[in-house]
Amino acid sequence: MLLENLNETQRAAALHGEGPCLVLAGPGSGKTRVLTYRAARLLNEGKCAPENLLLVTFTKKAAEEMKERLHALVGDAANIAFVGTFHSFCYSVLRDLNPRLDVVEGYKKKKLFREALAATGLSDLLDLAEVMRKVGLLKNELVTWEDYSENLRREKEKSETELALARVYRKYEELKAAENLVDFDDMLLMAYRAFSEEENLLRYWRNRLRFVMVDEYQDTNRAQFEILKLLVPPPDGNLFVVGDEDQSVYKFRGAHPEYTLDFEKTYPSAEVFALDVNYRSTANIVSLVNAVIEKNRFRRADKPAVRPVNGAGPDVVFVRAKDEIAEAEEAVSEIEKLKADGIPLGEIAVLYRTNVQARPFEEELVAKGIPCVVYGSCGFWDRKEVRDILAYLQLVHDPDSAAGDEAVERVINVPTRYLGRKFLDAARLHASNRKISLYRAVPEVGFGNRKQQKAAREFFELIEGLRRRKLPPAALIRAVIGETGYEDYLRREEGLTEDADSDRLEHLEELKRAASRFDNVGEFLAHAENVRKAVLSKNENGADLDAVRLMTLHRAKGLEFRAVFVVGVTQGKLPHHRSDDEEEERRLFFVGLSRAKEYLYVSHFGKPSEFWEEAVKAVRGGDSTVRSLD
Ligand code: ATP
Ligand code: MG
Repeated sequence: MLLENLNETQRAAALHGEGPCLVLAGPGSGKTRVLTYRAARLLNEGKCAPENLLLVTFTKKAAEEMKERLHALVGDAANIAFVGTFHSFCYSVLRDLNPRLDVVEGYKKKKLFREALAATGLSDLLDLAEVMRKVGLLKNELVTWEDYSENLRREKEKSETELALARVYRKYEELKAAENLVDFDDMLLMAYRAFSEEENLLRYWRNRLRFVMVDEYQDTNRAQFEILKLLVPPPDGNLFVVGDEDQSVYKFRGAHPEYTLDFEKTYPSAEVFALDVNYRSTANIVSLVNAVIEKNRFRRADKPAVRPVNGAGPDVVFVRAKDEIAEAEEAVSEIEKLKADGIPLGEIAVLYRTNVQARPFEEELVAKGIPCVVYGSCGFWDRKEVRDILAYLQLVHDPDSAAGDEAVERVINVPTRYLGRKFLDAARLHASNRKISLYRAVPEVGFGNRKQQKAAREFFELIEGLRRRKLPPAALIRAVIGETGYEDYLRREEGLTEDADSDRLEHLEELKRAASRFDNVGEFLAHAENVRKAVLSKNENGADLDAVRLMTLHRAKGLEFRAVFVVGVTQGKLPHHRSDDEEEERRLFFVGLSRAKEYLYVSHFGKPSEFWEEAVKAVRGGDSTVRSLD
């Protein structure tokens, strides 16, 4: 029978009947398993019809996995029950109300924000990325633009920036509404408002959702918390949540781990379970993981540390490397050994703090012919800023080729030179009439006003100047960035970033580092194209691919692998220099380490961070395997 696969406490939790329930426990203790089994039991025993069940997970990937597991246990009922993210649930509620609704994200969303900034004349005062981040945070806190303006009106002291933000927020909402668009943060805010304003709607969903369950509850934000309270009213609704406040890593995006700690305040009749056996990892890994998190002061005091059921397993390996290349080489040579020992590549993960850190690992894996998947944002060589600069390099290296034509199309107007589509059309026509390359056509076409013609000649001269200097790749990149004003362009046009994950300026630095290993521009370009093609970049599921997984620590939450490399535990990287919350950074480190089942490697390059030192010391009083590659 189903429940035989659970230990006593897990079984008790899975057998929990009606009323609120909290399962609070450390990593690998079976929280997600309990959630799945409870859902399966309710469905199998007919306690709950599939359409009356809502199971919320943190990511789409987790939802897919959960659906699969559930399907294995209950069959087709799994497809009827709602298993998905908070956002997807809210979106489907909103779509029922307004079928014309569409999602805006990525580039288009940024564009709307930029328009809102321009329309309010505030582009110079406010930073695009910062505005996007703040508006998102406000929405997650359920603060509409009306609320925000109203609050400001009542404040005696208000900064110019706050007033400006209020105007941009409003304008952005108007632009979106005009096109029936919603962004991700809207989904929560709008669903909350719909539920609180339309009694019938709320009544319908309350009746329909007889059982609601939430995984990774520690990263619930205010909007999600309030929606849950509406759907499953305290004090005794059927809300079943599992989480671990030590794994809360999204405070910077508005998560409130205290909702987990205070669950019983909201739902006083809640039954609470603490699981304390770790089934995932070897004893060596569990002991390290426990020691690391003990350094945090803000924790729930009564939570037991998890204890292992598995044997000691191999030693945790610590690696010190002089630079990121040495670090990547060492990791990849270990990966080759693991592979030779029969560990499937899909069971091996490399985890890092920010996306840009993937680059040396991608490169080394490709060099050794080991397939890899980069999760999250696109791979390094596919990034806009990287491809822009490479296009300039292409023009310097060989402007008259097909690749040269493509490069002209890509960067003639990057940074903005007022040489848009029409100019390009004219240049293309001129090129084909004269049988010359697009590059040669640029200074000749004589299209547009005097300013444009001048800009076209200057573009050509810029490249010609660079060509004459015959610089090696890294120096050429520096020159391109300097002479085009590319960094200012990024700041001005694109806004820096949506979050610390994708700092574009850092990518430029990384590009220079990558180039510094080459003396010849052509070779460097060929190499870049090679790696770009070999790396599979994946936004969500690459489930069955036989390839090493590369992802950020954030993204790894909830997952597990037989072998894990937590890399870049370097000063300024982990903890990240831009974070002012050391405990959240340590939780992130803890999440990373606790993904490993059997093999765990912790490495740094350059100067180790305090996390690295702590971890080394934590292993059996300093008796750990430290490999120094100096
Ligand atoms: P995290 O906090 O990292 O999300 P979790 O508490 O959700 O971890 P699970 O992912 O549910 O933990 O379980 C960890 C691993 O242990 C899984 O591979 C799961 O199948 C296994 N496991 C859990 N409980 C048991 C059990 N009673 N017997 C055998 N294996 C178990
Ligand atoms: Mg889990």
